[in-house]
Amino acid sequence: MDIQQKLKILADSAKYDVSCSSSGSNRKNTQGGIGNATLSGICHSWSDDGRCISLLKILYTNECVYDCVYCVNRVTNDIPRASFTPQEVADLTINFYKRNYIEGLFLSSAINKNPDYTMEGLSEVVRILREEYRFNGYIHLKGIPGADEALISKAGKYVDRMSVNIELPSSEGLKLLAPQKKKESILKPMGLINQKIIQSKEEKKQFKGANLFVPAGQSTQLIVGATQDHDYKILTLTEGLYNRYKLKRVYYSAYVPVMNHPKLPQVINPPTVREHRLYQADWLLRFYGFSAGELLDETQPNFDNDFDPKTDWALRNIHLFPIEINRAEYEMLLRVPGIGVRSARRIIAARRVSTISYDGLKNIGVVMKRAQHFITCNGKYHGEVGMKVGLIRQSLLPKPKKTNVPSWQENQLSFLTDLVPYNHNLINSIVLGEL
Ligand code: SF4
Repeated sequence: MDIQQKLKILADSAKYDVSCSSSGSNRKNTQGGIGNATLSGICHSWSDDGRCISLLKILYTNECVYDCVYCVNRVTNDIPRASFTPQEVADLTINFYKRNYIEGLFLSSAINKNPDYTMEGLSEVVRILREEYRFNGYIHLKGIPGADEALISKAGKYVDRMSVNIELPSSEGLKLLAPQKKKESILKPMGLINQKIIQSKEEKKQFKGANLFVPAGQSTQLIVGATQDHDYKILTLTEGLYNRYKLKRVYYSAYVPVMNHPKLPQVINPPTVREHRLYQADWLLRFYGFSAGELLDETQPNFDNDFDPKTDWALRNIHLFPIEINRAEYEMLLRVPGIGVRSARRIIAARRVSTISYDGLKNIGVVMKRAQHFITCNGKYHGEVGMKVGLIRQSLLPKPKKTNVPSWQENQLSFLTDLVPYNHNLINSIVLGEL
């Protein structure tokens, strides 16, 4: 099979992995090297379902020996199969980079033969890129659950970010849909990566020239809606991952039904609103001081489709409001719907100088349509419907609107689907390294 065919198969197979943002790395070019992973060197571009398209995003192999029921690459699925060699992936990356099509590499993989065999190949790709091609561009690599610690440690020396995907949020879900995967074999490499990151930061303090291990941190992906797990379960897991393994990001991927199987839920459209609510709640955990247990609990285990998690929390805790904008603590300001981190900081700064007026809040950037129901300004309440939860809910309900959002079934932006119709020879020359 030629490289172009492999690329077509393995770029298409990678499209369900969304954990590929490239933030947080500051690797610079070196003398005689190529590429640069500093923020200015990476152009982020996102497809409509949230995937980054500035990276060469491919699988190393889709010849999987596992049989995860929800996955298009499962061993029992009859699809075209392909595997790159490490040299092929390194050459493709360099050739695409030199053509200015990409800024970096996002390399994921199915499990070919066994976890060690696959991880060894992935490690070799990044070794060639860094040591032989002196490539300094951004690299995000998958850590393969169950692979030997030495192989993961070796790869981590070369890459900017690593991710070990959890995929299913509970052991029961794994048992049902991915019986060959075990929670422990996923969490173990996460623990190792975290430990190595901390260790390398300590070394860096003592020896300036020491290299950081996985400098952009680690991330993971959770599939939403393939199992019965509710939002509370997912958010509690997320909180644990941030606290225990210091993950940089958790990505949520609405379950896309690509397979039919009696163990899979009957889904007409992927639960994208649910995915969106989880991203909002994730933000509240990381930047607004909320805990998972405040946002949801066993009695209300799922987010409200109509309201963002902060508004929903405020409506359920209406006894804490209204708060006086000129006196409230920063932490409480952050909990007011319509007040974000930036506007909370501006309020604190502005009131050091003078009392803030109702009109002044608009200039600060507060979204008054929401905030008015939960604040007083100089002792005056400006909410139009009073402190009545039912009426506030009604006035905040989103108005139905027509959208032109394309269907989720649109194809992922892909090098081949985009480029082949325009210049078939160009692709051939890039793939073959004729620059
Ligand atoms: S191990 Fe990964 S690629 Fe293989 S079937 Fe499971 S989810 Fe798919």
